[in-house]
Amino acid sequence: MRVTDHRYSRDLDRHHLALRMIRHEARTCTIRSCTTLTDDRIRKLYRSYVASNPATHEVRRKRGKSPRRIAYFLRNASAHLEASLLAGLFTAVGLIEDESARGPAQRSLEFGALFCDAFETYQCLWRSGRMSFEHAWFLLTALASGEDLKVDRCPVCSGAFVRDTLALAPGRCPLCRMKTDTRGIRRLLADRRIAANPPA
Ligand SMILES: [Zn+2]
Repeated sequence: MRVTDHRYSRDLDRHHLALRMIRHEARTCTIRSCTTLTDDRIRKLYRSYVASNPATHEVRRKRGKSPRRIAYFLRNASAHLEASLLAGLFTAVGLIEDESARGPAQRSLEFGALFCDAFETYQCLWRSGRMSFEHAWFLLTALASGEDLKVDRCPVCSGAFVRDTLALAPGRCPLCRMKTDTRGIRRLLADRRIAANPPA
């Protein structure tokens, strides 16, 4: 492949990834960190490919501050389970190791595509999932830093789950918590029923 062909191909890959992330309502700074496209190019892409397409009129650009509170992932057993499922997917494709080894400054197109793969798999597995792309992104960075959150083994069932590193006791995984909390089980079953029979 000639150098010009290679550059053209990489440029196309950048645009494809940016569009994929725009469809998930990723923030401009998140898209920039993987594609290295300028903010101006990302805004133009948003306007020309998404805002003008009636099929994607529901896509919104996120504004304001990025998610910063780890309590979001631990607020109840169902949310904790969602975070643990995503953490399992991140682990399976090596994203947590990759993020902690490289850091935000060295993210790549491949990293962004792999993250989209993991997030889209989560959406398929948990169709009533409420976690946004940006919350999932924050979850990955928090797990990679290991300061507040980490993937640990449940002392009861040995399953992997997201644990608050500052918690005094290691605690149980969300599934074990749900087994002893009938309200948690009912909520989970209700979520699954909604996923199987989405409202018209
Ligand atoms: Zn457990």
